[in-house]
This record gives sequence, structure tokens and C-alpha cells, in this order.
Amino acid sequence: MINSDVEAYNIIVSTLNSENTSINGRKILEITKDLLKYYSFVENQTYPRPSHPYPEKRKDAYFTLIAILLSLRTTLENEMKAVNNFCSRYSNVYDVANADINELITLIKCAGMPKKKAETIINVSKYIINNLNGDINNINDGNIDHIRDSLFKIPGLGEKSVDCMLELAFDMPSIVIDINVFRVVSRMFFSDRTLSFEKNKDILEIKNFIESNIIADYRLYQIVHTILLLHGKFVCKSTPNCHECCIFDRCQYCSVNEDSHQLRLF
Ligand code: SF4
Repeated sequence: MINSDVEAYNIIVSTLNSENTSINGRKILEITKDLLKYYSFVENQTYPRPSHPYPEKRKDAYFTLIAILLSLRTTLENEMKAVNNFCSRYSNVYDVANADINELITLIKCAGMPKKKAETIINVSKYIINNLNGDINNINDGNIDHIRDSLFKIPGLGEKSVDCMLELAFDMPSIVIDINVFRVVSRMFFSDRTLSFEKNKDILEIKNFIESNIIADYRLYQIVHTILLLHGKFVCKSTPNCHECCIFDRCQYCSVNEDSHQLRLF
């Protein structure tokens, strides 16, 4: 569990001080360390989860799963409203499996696609009751490959949702590659290639690149994921704000795009 931004920073620094990190791994961690001065790790943990830094947001992995399902194709603000409504109304998987679907639809409406999401949530809850004895933690046998296979059997879970469950609900070393992380890493390290977030093989390449260069410590993956996501969201956007970027000096994209050097504020 990571309880504070200072702790997150120290985890990165102590890994950097160890001998067995590759050149690219060091670069990713150095960038993350520098970006931690601008973005808070703890304040940007949106999903309720067992090891959430804030005690009031510590919830069973079942609620992490529901938050992941609610977060699909919606804004952070609407996701959080829907998750709060859900968590205030239901206390366990049995409540949800027997829920009135119309009430559930009303509660999660702000997250978009309420009927589809409500059906998925009820189906997922029934699956957990029927196949996992009512407790999603029963799939956690400590083996990441077994857990991944079991998560894929749950209806409605795709690659990214499975990685979110592994990384955030079960504290396993499997980094989530969302579009923001993908964009930052592609530009930092692969600007000579045309990688696309539309292609699963390209997403997997970025995931493998990070996981093969950073030791398999879930805390490192949680920090790198959160911080690069925030940098992609606020600075390294579709049209990157390179003139506002504090890591421009280590960025491959910036070194080959002359225009991005201009009007630098740092
Ligand atoms: S320099 Fe530009 S392209 Fe590189 S990480 Fe920063 S914003 Fe993104």
C-alpha cells in the first residue's frame, strides 16, 4: 500500500538507487520522479480499492470492479458520482444481484449507458455468486496468470479492465495502459514509429516495454501508471504542450520536432 506522495517518491528513488534497473527503466522512473513534483499520486486514486491511500475509500475488490465498469466511456466526474451513488446504496454482491434494475439504472445514470451498465453489473454479480462463492477474492491464488485467466471469464471484462483489477484491486505487477500512458510512452521512446492505440498489438508492445524494463513491483506500476496518465491528460495531450513540459529534454518526440522547442516555459 502507498499511503502518501512522499512514500511514492521514496519508492521511486530507492529503486533508482538499486543496481538492477535497465537504462530505459531508469529513464521511465526518472521521468516519473520529476513529474511527481507536479502531480499527486494519492489524490488521483479514483477507484475505491482495498489498498486505497485514504481509509474512507478502502473497499473490497468487488467495488473496484464495479467502479471499473462504471468508468467505461465517461468522464471522471460522472464516474465518481455514479460510484458514490452505488456504494451508498449497496453493501455487497448479494444486494446487487437481487437489485431492482430500474433503481440501479437511476443511480448510475450519470455514468452514461445506464441500462447496459446496469445489466452488466447484475450479470457480473450473479457470476461472482454462482462461480466464486460470492467473493471475487476467491480468484486470488497469488498467481498472476491464474488470476488474469479467471478475470477474463467474468462477463464484461476486457483487457484494460482486467489489468485495472490486477494492478489496483489485487496489487499485482500488471501495468494498465490507458490512452494517456500510451501517448506519453510512445512519444518519449518510439517517436520514430507509428504506434496506434487502436491496435491491441501496439498497446501490448508499450505494456511489455514498461514491464520488461521496470522490476515487477506493483507499487512502481501503480505510480508510473498514475503519473504518466496525468501527464498525458494535462500536458502531453493529442496536440502536445511541449513548451510547458518539464521532461522535454529527455523526449524523443521533442528532439525530432523542431516546432515543439519553441516558446518553452521551463
Ligand atoms: S516534450 Fe512534448 S511530446 Fe514529449 S512528453 Fe513532453 S509534451 Fe509529450
